Amino acid sequence: MRGDKKNLVIIGGGFAGAKLAQKLERRVADDWEIYLLSQTNFVTFNPLLPEVVGASVLPGHVQAPIRQMLKRTRIRMVTVDTVDFVARKISYHNNEPGELHFDQVVFAAGVRANIGMIEGMEKHGLPLKTVGDALYIRNRVIDCLEQATIHPDPGRRKQLTTFVIVGGGFSGVETTGELDDFLKTAERYYKNVQRKDCRIILLHGTGRLLPELSPALAAKTLKIFRQRNIDVRLESVVVKVANETVHLASGELIHGATIICTIGATPHAFLQHEALPRKRGKILTRADMSVAGLEGVWALGDCALVPNAKDGQPCPPTAQFADRQARQLARNIAAALRGEPTRPFSFSPLGLLASIGHNKAVAEIFGIEFSGFIAWLMWRGIYLLKVPTLARKARLFLEWNWAMLFPPDIAHLGFHRTENSAQPGTGSRTQCESVHEKSEEA
Ligand SMILES: Cc1cc2nc3c(=O)[nH]c(=O)nc-3n(C[C@H](O)[C@H](O)[C@H](O)COP(=O)(O)OP(=O)(O)OC[C@H]3O[C@@H](n4cnc5c(N)ncnc54)[C@H](O)[C@@H]3O)c2cc1C
Repeated sequence: MRGDKKNLVIIGGGFAGAKLAQKLERRVADDWEIYLLSQTNFVTFNPLLPEVVGASVLPGHVQAPIRQMLKRTRIRMVTVDTVDFVARKISYHNNEPGELHFDQVVFAAGVRANIGMIEGMEKHGLPLKTVGDALYIRNRVIDCLEQATIHPDPGRRKQLTTFVIVGGGFSGVETTGELDDFLKTAERYYKNVQRKDCRIILLHGTGRLLPELSPALAAKTLKIFRQRNIDVRLESVVVKVANETVHLASGELIHGATIICTIGATPHAFLQHEALPRKRGKILTRADMSVAGLEGVWALGDCALVPNAKDGQPCPPTAQFADRQARQLARNIAAALRGEPTRPFSFSPLGLLASIGHNKAVAEIFGIEFSGFIAWLMWRGIYLLKVPTLARKARLFLEWNWAMLFPPDIAHLGFHRTENSAQPGTGSRTQCESVHEKSEEA
């Protein structure tokens, strides 16, 4: 508490947390101080991460600085370690540890990539959850092309130019489309490596891609990918990942120097608190997003299981739902603080869209199916509207138009500091080089 003010603390500054803070600023009286605690000081626009992988957009353009989105909220870039519901305080750390008292607390911490769910994935697979992950994969692909152009052994060249993607959901399909586009463009600049020399293998555990979309759109995506010589393997359950090798449940081995993992998410460890009702690690909420048995505690977004009054089902973990929950929760918290009744969360999704490369997408909007260029234009238009802050919208718009006229940036963005000449080799290694070494050591 600051002076006579009470503290409303939001943990997590992603889609849900940042939008909630924005909406609360206008609804909560001045005797409340709003705090937002988040590991990053920006919101990552996750739906565009595959575009970062494919070098269609620059990494900074999918990050919106939270401080530019909020006026009244006090922001702390920290990692929350524990929440004490009895003492009503949150412990966190940045460089130094710290504590914050709360009167109301909202969990909006999202989920983290669960690459430990498949043996060996943590060591040999590349997750796609953060901007850092996307940039790393982009660099890795470029690194493989650079190595393949100079490697004398055709077998090694084949391995370097084989890209395996695990998971045929939204991010897996979009990453596949982006990678295909990127390799097609890159062949102009890599004389010894052409798109036809590269293999993209998409592994999906069930019988159809994009399970969230209709079977017809999933079938269309499969057909288009196969026409582009993308090797899509359905019913291919990955059981283990080893050095540049994927083991399938069927016993088959798939070899490729780059293994991208788009499956698996798990809630953060600090949410596994005995006082919080949970299911599969996610916080179970009441219909109004309050947490039963705990006064002044709320949860939303991917870290929560919020029942949707529209269909009685838990909400899916999507940005669309996180955004709508945040709007409703701001109204509910404001009502609760005034001693008024809250309302259950109820929302019908407007639609789903997935970009599949080559300026094409598949989409289902208000139950109507679209595919091809029109769907892709809708995909771009909708995401442009959704990207936080006007400055990011403008940049993205310019960058997308720029990309119509100019090729994507194929520079290997290895960020390394000036080397200390006294310790040669310590400062100039890129992340990709160190992964290659790690793989070869294994
Ligand atoms: C590659 C990818 C593609 C996607 N594509 C789509 C799409 O096309 N359409 C769609 O609707 N959804 C998509 N999603 C899902 C969508 O991004 C999520 O549903 C949405 O981000 C959920 O919002 P959130 O606020 O709950 O979590 P997040 O946006 O993940 O935010 C969580 C926040 O909590 C913070 N945090 C975590 N732990 C701590 C801690 N201990 N202390 C402090 N802060 C912490 C994080 O730093 C982050 O700021 C995609 C996700 C990914 C990864």
